[in-house]
Amino acid sequence: MTYLADKEGYYGEFGGAYVPEILHACVSELQDTYLKVIGTPEFRKEYMALLRDYVGRPSPLYLSEKLSEKYGIRLYLKREDLNHTGAHKINNTIGQIIIARHMGKKRIIAETGAGQHGVATATVCALMGMECVVYMGETDVRRQHVNVEKMKMLGASVVPVTSGNKTLKDATNEAIRDWCCHPADTFYIIGSTVGPHPYPDMVARLQSVISEEIKAQLQEKEGRDYPDCLVACVGGGSNAAGTIYHYIDDERVRIVLAEAGGLGVDSGKTAATIALGQVGIIHGAKTYVIQDEDGQIEEPYSVSAGLDYPGIGPMHANLAKCRRAEVIPVNDDEALEAGVSLTRTEGIIPAIESAHALGVLPKISFHKGDVVVLTLSGRGDKDLETYLSYCSDKR
Ligand SMILES: *Cc1c(COP(=O)(O)O)cnc(C)c1O
Repeated sequence: MTYLADKEGYYGEFGGAYVPEILHACVSELQDTYLKVIGTPEFRKEYMALLRDYVGRPSPLYLSEKLSEKYGIRLYLKREDLNHTGAHKINNTIGQIIIARHMGKKRIIAETGAGQHGVATATVCALMGMECVVYMGETDVRRQHVNVEKMKMLGASVVPVTSGNKTLKDATNEAIRDWCCHPADTFYIIGSTVGPHPYPDMVARLQSVISEEIKAQLQEKEGRDYPDCLVACVGGGSNAAGTIYHYIDDERVRIVLAEAGGLGVDSGKTAATIALGQVGIIHGAKTYVIQDEDGQIEEPYSVSAGLDYPGIGPMHANLAKCRRAEVIPVNDDEALEAGVSLTRTEGIIPAIESAHALGVLPKISFHKGDVVVLTLSGRGDKDLETYLSYCSDKR
């Protein structure tokens, strides 16, 4: 019994590969290739060397004394915010571009919400000298203009998407459409544990370096290689998947995930997929989706562009259904407050996505002295305007 994917990419009833006929060949080529490539010593050597020398891994595991004292626990922050390009996303894009090169692909496409995955993809394309096209909803292009300029400076073309809510879901649809038109030479780098099999499993494996490091770091700091509890935010689920990967079947370790409550789960402006979603298909995977009675996908909302997605990775859908993970909604204001508070007490400005993980802490009851690891998925430089307008609204 395992909570990891089976050979067909299913996590319980969730996952699989529901793709249009025209993509069938691309997807099965990748299904047949990814494990072989990841399993070679050459891949491991190149991937680990780049993670060390280019990304700056291992990322530190930092004991926050202030938060520890506040909650009566030992709270460690896994500092993915210190990675090159400012978030965990680069762990995945480095791995996928090496796989793309092994497969002889010349052109890279990607979707992006907050722009973090777009920047991480444009970065590795610059590094490897590959053509890069990034699809981004027009709303997000406006919200995240600094990241748009970064991608352009890195040599990528950024295509604003004007359909739907003009956010991540719509950008993903457009990237899939591009892939359908250029199946032979194009590799689609997906930024989270979503999409058709093998993406959720491939991305989870590439992010699993996070929990590999947590094991070694806890062994050194606590004298045991597992925590009592892991905490992470979930958009599509990749930083959470990396954080829990090596503990997923270890029932000693409690898993708590924060999803974006937006203005409140019952407000109609939310991205709380586990709280509200029903089983459906989104972007090639069977999972929980926020949809209306006719099965139309509803427009999600969150202050955080990286969590503004109406689905969730199939791994997490299954963990929630089996109650292996507790998934708790955190509203915009709760996340912003937690982010401002970390800034003032620890001198760390977290991404608003990561602030959702911090915002879940007051909602959990811990045992005194529990060892808790919370993944700080990214840094908040991109979110300064949002933090500042929150602070001035409160005054
Ligand atoms: C993209 C992003 C997320 C959400 O994506 P996951 O795949 O759920 O991890 C969370 N935090 C940051 C900083 C991000 O950039």
